[in-house]
Amino acid sequence: MNLPFNDPSAIVEADRAHVWHHLIQHKSFETVDPRIIVEGKGMRVWDITGKEHIDAMSGGVWTVNVGYGRERIADAVRDQLVKLNFFAGAAGTIPGSQFAERLISKMPGLARVYYANSGSEANEKGFKMVRQIAHKVHGGKKWKILYRDRDYHGTTMGALAAGGQDERNAQYGPFAPGFVRVPHCIEYRAHELGLEPGPGFGVAAANLIEEVILREGPDTIGALCLEPVTAGGGVVPPPEGYWDRVQEICRQYEILLHIDEVVCGVGRTGAWFGYQHYGIQPDIVTMAKGVASGYAAISCCVTTEAVFEQFKDDSDPMSYFRDISTFGGCTAGPAAALENMAIIEEENLLENTIRMEERLVDGLNRLAERHDAIGQVRGKGLFQGAELVKNRESKEPLGEKEVGAILADCMAQGVIVGATNRSVPGRNNTLCLSPALIATADDIDQIVEAIDGAIGRMLS
Ligand code: PMP
Repeated sequence: MNLPFNDPSAIVEADRAHVWHHLIQHKSFETVDPRIIVEGKGMRVWDITGKEHIDAMSGGVWTVNVGYGRERIADAVRDQLVKLNFFAGAAGTIPGSQFAERLISKMPGLARVYYANSGSEANEKGFKMVRQIAHKVHGGKKWKILYRDRDYHGTTMGALAAGGQDERNAQYGPFAPGFVRVPHCIEYRAHELGLEPGPGFGVAAANLIEEVILREGPDTIGALCLEPVTAGGGVVPPPEGYWDRVQEICRQYEILLHIDEVVCGVGRTGAWFGYQHYGIQPDIVTMAKGVASGYAAISCCVTTEAVFEQFKDDSDPMSYFRDISTFGGCTAGPAAALENMAIIEEENLLENTIRMEERLVDGLNRLAERHDAIGQVRGKGLFQGAELVKNRESKEPLGEKEVGAILADCMAQGVIVGATNRSVPGRNNTLCLSPALIATADDIDQIVEAIDGAIGRMLS
């Protein structure tokens, strides 16, 4: 690696003095240096000390789906920027039009793409659409939005109101009214729901959503917002039969289905979108991280034509969607997203994801045979989790300190793995793995080996 500067310690000190990092307690930087990532290529990144890491988390937060150092994305973005960098979204742009068409070609039944910048923002757009439909179409009824325990939809105040991870919300209330929680669907912890695991669990878990709808009144509920596979809340794929029943419930009570694909979208699960594994037809789909693999900021709120049509009645001058995202008019996002999608197609990365999923799951299951601390391996595609427990019988979660020690051990071995929300008793105990979709068998083996060593040392 070529360090692009002469004095790494000056960079570290500038960071320590002035950067407010995300999601971290800065007291720790009094004794350890902040980690500074300098360069990336493929599956690997190098930090400022020159140390090489294999990145099993695609940029820490399941984002860099096509891997680092893609010159063709950089070239496409550069070419676009010198031609036109920005124009506000009341007008169109060439990459904006082209990417919308490409994206919709991968999403049968959906029709319209609304551009924004972050996952939170895309979700806010979806929530605002639902609220406006409530006012315009339902005479003020159907204004509530259901969200699920353990799911996460973003960091802004509206998205936090729809947040199923209490520790993220705890210090930031009060929140907007009209967001109502439904129970989670994690079969491994069926006992928390008073349900039995097994063949009927998925339908029973979906029926818990119906119970909430009936309690609140179906004419008050406008939408149900769910992650297709819960990410930060524990890497939870849906149980058998869950989605069919969820779709049925939404149709029965005329509730819009909003799927948050911020993590699952654009290949992560081995399909273009996570929901496509389950044969469901959403009304609103939001996406962000993998859309341009972090080469530019872009998010999309995609809707059916039927949702879009509700905003087209010009007999009412207030009826259009009165919303803007200034930087939704940046052209770098769709220019990068077009190349990102082309790479996934040309390099057959969806197929690679499915092949590497098998290798990763096999590897983790082999570790589970050796280490009682692995309670369950679960996920979809190159988006896997290993729930760690103190005791397989009681399923008592492994403590935060032990999970932290495993992450630190992997990091010392040069492998970056993640864990679900820290500091939530009972919910911080799932190791997360989401390598880039270009991962090879050797990469996967190296990741599994590092976890093996780390768990072994933690238990000894
Ligand atoms: N939805 C999900 C499922 C997410 O995991 C995240 C981010 N981790 C978001 C929304 C919010 O995205 P952003 O941080 O880009 O606002």
